[in-house]
Amino acid sequence: MEALRQLPAVDRVLNEPALAGLVAELGHAGAADLARRALDARRAELAAGAEAAGGRDAEAALVARRALALDGTRLRRVLNATGVVVHTNLGRAPLPAEAVRAVAGTAGAYADLELDLATGQRGSRQAHVGPLAARLVGAEAAIAVNNCAGALVLVLAALAREREVVVSRGQLIEIGDGFRLPEIMAQAGARLVEVGATNRTRLDDYAAAIGPETALILRAHPSNFRVVGFTEEVAVADLARLGAERGVPVVDDIGSGLVRPDPDLPGEPDAAGSVAAGAGLVLFSADKLLGGPQAGVIAGRADLVEAAARHPLARALRIDRLGVAALEAVLRLHLDPERARAAVPVRRMIAMPADEVRARAERLAALTGGDVAETAARIGGGALPAVDLPSWACALPDPAGELHAALRTGEPAVLGRLEDGRLLLDCRTLLDDADVEVIAARVTACR
Ligand SMILES: *Cc1c(COP(=O)(O)O)cnc(C)c1O
Repeated sequence: MEALRQLPAVDRVLNEPALAGLVAELGHAGAADLARRALDARRAELAAGAEAAGGRDAEAALVARRALALDGTRLRRVLNATGVVVHTNLGRAPLPAEAVRAVAGTAGAYADLELDLATGQRGSRQAHVGPLAARLVGAEAAIAVNNCAGALVLVLAALAREREVVVSRGQLIEIGDGFRLPEIMAQAGARLVEVGATNRTRLDDYAAAIGPETALILRAHPSNFRVVGFTEEVAVADLARLGAERGVPVVDDIGSGLVRPDPDLPGEPDAAGSVAAGAGLVLFSADKLLGGPQAGVIAGRADLVEAAARHPLARALRIDRLGVAALEAVLRLHLDPERARAAVPVRRMIAMPADEVRARAERLAALTGGDVAETAARIGGGALPAVDLPSWACALPDPAGELHAALRTGEPAVLGRLEDGRLLLDCRTLLDDADVEVIAARVTACR
């Protein structure tokens, strides 16, 4: 077929100016592999009757563009103008500079991850984060694992395998991505005993469900939805009192990871409060309101923490070295609440006064010819679903979403949200004021 004869050789494709960067980055072999894959796909297309590009040069340019697209999956920086602070699809929490430095300082070197330098003896990676987390929330002991879902699986497997766990029907949550509490319990080998109704569960319901097979009372914070109206939940303190009478520890999965009550986040459960109220264990994520790396913390009674740490699954769920470095730095910042508010990006965004957000939106609107619009930002990540953060955005007309698509696929990528034919660029979730200029330049380039 004539069209197939027009297909260029691999080296001809690699000589396309558009691929210079790819060759520099991946080396000749890496770039040639992508060019070959793109050529194979193009050959199949032409053989199936696709229209020729019109000459060898045109085919080479087309295949080069396809080769570039095949390399399009690298992790890229995104400017978050969605107004969702803890945005799971954008990697949840941007790390504070202190944590970035801690990671950078040890990532390309060896570190005393599991070695006690003072004695030269083998140490534990938990030594860097466990005691610090325990101190922060007033617990006897703590460990960190891969994430909070992992923390829950580990605790259930270690403390409730083939035994019963009592849970309120109002708390049988899906924690995201289709992972539901009943299924997690089943995988961990624990038997679920549901009590109460979706909207109301009383202490008596728990008391009636506890028997000789009961290993734990589990509370899970229904963090990504709210039951409103005729509702009743049993406080941790009451459950802890009941548990103490019957010899059954309370495990409190608070999810979001506030270490102590925060005036910016009224009503959000906090780990210190849960421990003080008598929970045997409290579990939380490190990359939601704590503002750290992906990790899950298990804090509470020393014997229960120890049981989780010694379970074989703890090895499979262990926190990695970079996570230890970042988490240690973030936990240190939280020792001083004021410092955490200033230095931890997600906390800084939540605490930022609305008029400062407005000043950003006004500046962005002035630079792009947009309008200033009042918006409602969200905490996200399954925290405080009912809480709106007063916010401000720059609004640009974008009836077909073309501007948004161009911004999303550009460099750096900018993500906003489309609403009624307008692109809203919410300024509460920008990392700092200078992002306004970066976004304005991208908007100008994309129009
Ligand atoms: C988010 C959440 C989890 C899961 O935490 P990951 O760190 O994402 O695994 C578990 N429980 C609750 C209540 C949550 O909000």
